[in-house]
Amino acid sequence: MKIAVFPGSFDPVTLGHVDIITRGASLFDELIIAVGTNALKTYTFTAAQRVAFLEEAFSELKNVKVTHYTGLTVDYCKTIGAHYILRGLRNPADFQFEESIAQANKKMTGIDTAFLLTAPEYSFISSSIVRDVMKNGGDYSAFVPKGVSL
Ligand code: ADP
Repeated sequence: MKIAVFPGSFDPVTLGHVDIITRGASLFDELIIAVGTNALKTYTFTAAQRVAFLEEAFSELKNVKVTHYTGLTVDYCKTIGAHYILRGLRNPADFQFEESIAQANKKMTGIDTAFLLTAPEYSFISSSIVRDVMKNGGDYSAFVPKGVSL
């Protein structure tokens, strides 16, 4: 069984994430969305809220599950028996950031990272832009799935 973990902050989930998750779900038997909490980061939404938004967005996709984790992503993968990590790429900056992490993860554990390129219509969307629009009272409805609100 091919199990992949899609790790991220999802603060909050955006339509860019939804696109990667929907396409990723057709590549793997099971896709675990793993909401991370990093002690060095501050979040707008609590882990419970971030998980709840994702659960609402993917309630219909039967091979997608939503969880929360702390610590190294590869350790979490080993705990649940996942051999793949899924990540999305929007631009060269994403690639530069992801390349060495993926190589280090592979060297440490043998876990491979699969990348999907963003759909062009979502390539400009990031959780940080959504948070900024939200906090300033703008219309963010074209960027997030139904149910996401401040
Ligand atoms: P992290 O803090 O781990 O980067 P994010 O929630 O920002 O968490 O992103 C999780 C994953 O989703 C990353 O692989 C990121 O590149 C990808 N991603 C974010 N926004 C988009 C988008 N608009 N299109 C495609 N992939 C995206």
